Amino acid sequence: MIPIRFDNSFARLPAGFHRSVAPSAAVAPSLIRLNRPLAADLGLDADWLAGPEGIDMLSGRGIAEGSEPIATAYAGHQFGSFVPQLGDGRAILLGEVIDPDGGRHDIQLKGAGRTPFSRGGDGRAAFGPVLREYVVSEAMAALGIPTTRALAAVATGDTVARETMLPGAILVRVAASHIRVGTFQFHAYNGDDDAVRLLADHVIARHYPDAAEAARPYRALLDAVIAAQADLVARWLLVGFVHGVMNTDNMSVAGETIDYGPCAFLDAYDPATVFSSIDRGGRYAYGNQPQIALWNLTRLAGTLVPLLADDRDAGIADAQDALAAFPPAFQGAYSAGLARKFGLGGPGEVNLELAHDMLALMTANQADFTLFFRRLADAQDADGDAEPLRSLFVDPTACDAWLLRWRERIAQEGGSYEDRRRSMNAVNPAYIPRNHRIEAMIAAAVERGDFAPFDRLLAVLARPYDERPENRWAAEPPLAGERVTATFCGT
Ligand code: AMP
Ligand code: MG
Repeated sequence: MIPIRFDNSFARLPAGFHRSVAPSAAVAPSLIRLNRPLAADLGLDADWLAGPEGIDMLSGRGIAEGSEPIATAYAGHQFGSFVPQLGDGRAILLGEVIDPDGGRHDIQLKGAGRTPFSRGGDGRAAFGPVLREYVVSEAMAALGIPTTRALAAVATGDTVARETMLPGAILVRVAASHIRVGTFQFHAYNGDDDAVRLLADHVIARHYPDAAEAARPYRALLDAVIAAQADLVARWLLVGFVHGVMNTDNMSVAGETIDYGPCAFLDAYDPATVFSSIDRGGRYAYGNQPQIALWNLTRLAGTLVPLLADDRDAGIADAQDALAAFPPAFQGAYSAGLARKFGLGGPGEVNLELAHDMLALMTANQADFTLFFRRLADAQDADGDAEPLRSLFVDPTACDAWLLRWRERIAQEGGSYEDRRRSMNAVNPAYIPRNHRIEAMIAAAVERGDFAPFDRLLAVLARPYDERPENRWAAEPPLAGERVTATFCGT
């Protein structure tokens, strides 16, 4: 029996798209964790994966039958500056698998050694970034947000040199694909129109098959990617997610959240929040993300101009026409989501004003973004206890007048207390991967080899809307001394 069936459509693209590369074998691999439910969804045999042959594959020691390991080529704008060649420098695509429902998924090793695109890097990853990506990507999936997934984390048994020597690990990542805006940019920069067309055809077949049926497939492709990103970024904002490094090489054309580097979730609400230590100008601040997504999509549209029309000016006009759909698509998704978070019937003018007034109050009062919405659901009654909600504000009186307006509004809209509470709690998570918990989890693993906090965090975040008293520790914002203000790419 072949335990894993690969079908490698990206490897079948011409040579310019990738380079063959053998993963570097981990010296003494041990499985930190295998994501068994995900393995089952993919139709993979979890027992085989956890056995010697599976661990060989997951740790780069053996190449499973049918796997054709490659590093993919891409370019990208990093903090606004174009780099013509980046590529998978510390990631190796083992191949693609088809799940029982027919969905195609990349299986990639991140941190399995150097590739032709590594430049000065070692191609490796330390425990910290691997465990962070595992927890945060799985949390995003549980929140219902499109994302790459973590199939496994493997300790390599080796150390990697960063600021200090750190234990090394490999993240086994699953993605709809690893095709980025930067993949298009790579071929467009090389002036290879045929490669851009091939890539576009590949992406249509793989991610947007409806576009193939459209009158103008490449325009339909662009429209679909724009729509997917507008929806994705709206979802990020609605849970307080800051990607942190939205370079065009870190934006998936499949519409999944990808490349969890210095990402973080807001504790206190403030659109200007930046965590990444390398984002000095605040380019990728929480509130800038929609604008940056559009900037990145504009780069994508630029690569597609030759496919959109024979005449360059007509192609540019068509690309601009497509891009004009982004702001309303984002606003529509974000506003509708915001109304749901506030327990309001819809994104009408009155409701949006109410919501935005509160966001301004939260910013001025450093109110915790996640707790606010859970507690709001419990503050519907005029004679109920609003103290838990009020206490989230530096000046608790700041929200009193607003609360009166909100109660008046929900009374006008009608519906029962319990129904509203239930529907609000269904969209407002009780648990997000809080930065101070992530840092503590990483410290326990790196300093003491203790993975219990990692397991505990994963268990709670797997059911983010399901509040239970024993998980209070995971809901609480950081104490003053625990607050994480900077995150690092940790490559
Ligand atoms: P990222 O910051 O993860 O988006 O990576 C940007 C670029 O740097 C990509 O081309 C990566 O493959 C490459 N890169 C990041 N870390 C390493 C590393 N440790 N070794 C080699 N290449 C790396
Ligand atoms: Mg990247």
